[in-house]
Amino acid sequence: MARPTTDPWSGLNSAVPDLPGLLSRVGCHVYSGEVLAGGEYQERFTGPGLEELIGVPVDPGADATAIFHAAVHPDDWTLYLAAGTQMTTDSTTSIEYRLVQPDGSVRWVLDRMWLRERLPGGSSIVDGVISDVTELRDRTDEARAALHAVQQINAQLERAKAEVVEATAWLEAAVTATPAALILLDRELRTRLWNPAAERMFGYSREDALGRIAPHVSPEQLPTVRGVTDRLLAGEPLIEFEELRSGGDGHPRQMSVVSAPVCGVGGEITGFLGVITDITSRKEMETRLRHLAHNDPLTGLANRTFLTARIDEALARRSASAQQVSVMLMDLDGFKAVNDSFGHGTGDELLTAVSQRLSTCLRSADVAARLGGDEFAVLLETSTRAEALAVGERILRTLGGPVTLGRAQVVVTASIGVVHAGKYQSTQELLRDADVAMYRAKTLGKNQMVVFKAAMQQRVAKRLRLETQLRRAVELGQFELQYQPFQDLRTGRMVGAEALVRWRHPRRGLLPPADFISAAEETGLIVPLGRWILEEACTQAARWRSRYGRAAPSVSVNLSPRQLQDPELLTCVSRTLSRAGLDGGALHVEITESLLMSDSDLAGRKLAELRALGVGVAIDDFGTGYSSLAYLRRYPVDVLKIDQSFVAPLLEGPRPAALVRSIIELARALEVTTVAEGVENAEQARILRDLGCHIAQGFFLCRPQPAGELDALFEA
Ligand code: C2E
Ligand code: MG
Ligand code: MG
Repeated sequence: MARPTTDPWSGLNSAVPDLPGLLSRVGCHVYSGEVLAGGEYQERFTGPGLEELIGVPVDPGADATAIFHAAVHPDDWTLYLAAGTQMTTDSTTSIEYRLVQPDGSVRWVLDRMWLRERLPGGSSIVDGVISDVTELRDRTDEARAALHAVQQINAQLERAKAEVVEATAWLEAAVTATPAALILLDRELRTRLWNPAAERMFGYSREDALGRIAPHVSPEQLPTVRGVTDRLLAGEPLIEFEELRSGGDGHPRQMSVVSAPVCGVGGEITGFLGVITDITSRKEMETRLRHLAHNDPLTGLANRTFLTARIDEALARRSASAQQVSVMLMDLDGFKAVNDSFGHGTGDELLTAVSQRLSTCLRSADVAARLGGDEFAVLLETSTRAEALAVGERILRTLGGPVTLGRAQVVVTASIGVVHAGKYQSTQELLRDADVAMYRAKTLGKNQMVVFKAAMQQRVAKRLRLETQLRRAVELGQFELQYQPFQDLRTGRMVGAEALVRWRHPRRGLLPPADFISAAEETGLIVPLGRWILEEACTQAARWRSRYGRAAPSVSVNLSPRQLQDPELLTCVSRTLSRAGLDGGALHVEITESLLMSDSDLAGRKLAELRALGVGVAIDDFGTGYSSLAYLRRYPVDVLKIDQSFVAPLLEGPRPAALVRSIIELARALEVTTVAEGVENAEQARILRDLGCHIAQGFFLCRPQPAGELDALFEA
């Protein structure tokens, strides 16, 4: 607030500082004026700083107040006006506002005013000082900004600190919870971090471990660890290895170690982190799985996968070595009978015993494998073929000795097929031909070793041809039945006849069942063929019935195992009987022992059903299998057919007769009729009759004949 007046300073004493000069220089404007009762302001004194504040010269006589007002920043005008009112009520006030300079820049000023005196009439005198505070304000702004920045940084720091605390807590939790031992060593290998897993794994508490030189490493292993840290120092980013270390309990444990360098702020390596996991159980599991994958669980011998791989390797090595590679395929003879009559548990025991015996015949480099069931294989690498064959002979001899299984003693032999690798290219071919040779050993009478020859392959091809022809033969009905009668040894009467099938082969003539029954069995053709036989035999029995009435011979039909499994069997039998107008008593079925044993539940059920129809059941070839006499009690049968092999030596001495006698006595005790098979002469028939055998069948009486040829016998 200013108004030019006459110079008020002119009379000042020179001892007093040059106030006007000072004020003008510091940009400090002093003023004084009167505020009239109506609020209007009249400046009485205008100090020398005005021009400096507003940046323009103020002519003497100009309206300084108006000039000043014009400089007040429009945005601050209201504040400026309010200050006047404020001052008259409060006696003093101060405000900061802006003054706009001619160049458009802005200056901050602090305007402080005081009420000096209230005059009568309502007006009052005020004094004021306006000083330039731009710089101060700038500095304050700066300071404020700085303060703000500091506050923000602080807040950020606080947040970061909280984050660090949280992250540290998580890290701590992770380090504590992890099942892996986390161990931090400094460059001198002194322990800096030792988590609970490390405590558990190595038996040292954290307190004990910290500061010690790698407490988890034995002195002998320390050089290895130094080797690892040297490599890390040389720049390797990560080193993984597995090793055996002593665990906290003193037992050796398999450890997996991952080691990495730990770097300081400057990037230099300050230590080493080790993450150690105890993989002992995983390793054990792997070993077990590998064993399972490569071994037969029952016998512990190698399995097919492992054997095949080893044969592959041996074949690949062959050219580089002078060794002979031989593969033997081995099938136990009569295993099924043991398994069936003594049960699977005993069967398993036998397989284990066999595998142990087999192992004693081999050197450690040889591979013995169980391929499944009672099939074994051996891979040998020997200097000569003869050497391999000697091993085979040894196996035959060793296996052939009796085996004690619980209270029973059994003799199991083996049929062995041998292939020398020679020029063979593939393991598959090798195994295939070993199988052919083994099959040959079986058909040659078992308990022997056969070396594969190309001709055997032809035999296999022949078998395939036979199967094809057999299929056609079933379709074309190329079969015939011959009948072989049974004679009652006491009365001499023909009481029945067994139907025996023949194949009238278009080129090879009349073929016996031995030439085709097993092929028919294997292909399943026996089922349709068997139905035809049953029908044909029943038709024949009906003819005899109409011819000889009640005294007519019954008919016996051989049933193969496959037929007994046929779910239609019973329906088929009863339908066939009724179609022929026969009752069940006119028919007998003959089944072999092995069949009874192989699936005793099924066999028992089927036999009971057949017997319920009145059909007689005979056990054929009795004595050739592992006759478990128990089943004779369990499944009532009507007839025991004593095998030819017991009958043939009857004339040779008292022992065979004693054997037959005991069978007959047993049968009598069970109220079962005995039939002697293969009776070839009258002397045998006499002995059998004396031993109490009921019925005989054999060449001495009659060879199998077409039905028409038998009338003379039946009529006699
Ligand atoms: P199997 O049921 O034990 O029949 C007895 C076999 O011994 C018959 O041989 C018969 O000709 C023969 N044979 C009879 N008496 C004597 C004798 O005094 N001395 C000698 N050395 N042998 C005698 P075949 O006809 O060759 O039959 C062999 C086997 O084929 C039969 O043994 C039977 O198991 C089976 N078979 C025969 N026909 C059939 C059939 O229709 N179906 C089924 N599934 N198998 C049959
Ligand atoms: Mg028979
Ligand atoms: Mg027989």
